[in-house]
Amino acid sequence: MNNRTPLIAGNWKMHKTGAQAVEAASRIKTLVTSATGVEVMIAPTFTALYQVGQVLKGSPIALAGQNLHWESQGAFTGEISAQMLADAGCSQVIVGHSERRQFFGETDETVNMKIKAALSANLTPVLCIGESETEREAGNTFSVLDKQVRDGLNGFAFDGQADIVVAYEPVWAIGTGKTATREQAQEAHRFIRNLLDSLFGKPFASAVRILYGGSVKPDNVKALMEMPDVDGALVGGASLDPETFSKLVFFN
Ligand code: PGA
Repeated sequence: MNNRTPLIAGNWKMHKTGAQAVEAASRIKTLVTSATGVEVMIAPTFTALYQVGQVLKGSPIALAGQNLHWESQGAFTGEISAQMLADAGCSQVIVGHSERRQFFGETDETVNMKIKAALSANLTPVLCIGESETEREAGNTFSVLDKQVRDGLNGFAFDGQADIVVAYEPVWAIGTGKTATREQAQEAHRFIRNLLDSLFGKPFASAVRILYGGSVKPDNVKALMEMPDVDGALVGGASLDPETFSKLVFFN
């Protein structure tokens, strides 16, 4: 048994207009009010953040950005800072999602700067890591995860508060309907937790939540959540429909 509170997080990616996001967030708020012992987070697009934040005000559901820039302000056309996310009502931010790494040139170095920027604005970063199919087939899963964790969290020091969430998202499982088996997830999560222990110490490693992401659905969430090092889920596709998402929140 551990005392980590499970976190079920919805990443809406580039879906939903402001009105659609408000409608979905209101519905989720109603559906999950009776959920106890689990935290819920949703990450709408930038343009819907403020409106959704107003809907979630006073509810325990956390609001998150899907990305941020590491500078607090300046001539960076098209970018959003940690301070701006906090101003819009966010308490968390997804960092280094594989789609950002794949399509927008994010590297472990930029991810690291973003993690630091998030922490300095009191946002909880959700650091996404995961191997591609080729990397897994070549037997490189653990070395890839090792580098992503080490470089992504370079310079981080644990000060007694586990204000970081890690999401293990094998790239081959994202949006493909191909979920990692729960044994594969557990093996990766255990590896990550042991690495965090060696880098930042046991109090951090035993408190940090490690989410699994990649085709999480109502029919596979419970089996994944039963694994000792799986502390929640980062969900794309299945988070878009409030009824489906709430089934994930009530995974038990
Ligand atoms: P998916 O996406 O649930 O649609 O596979 C997960 C993610 O990208 O976080």
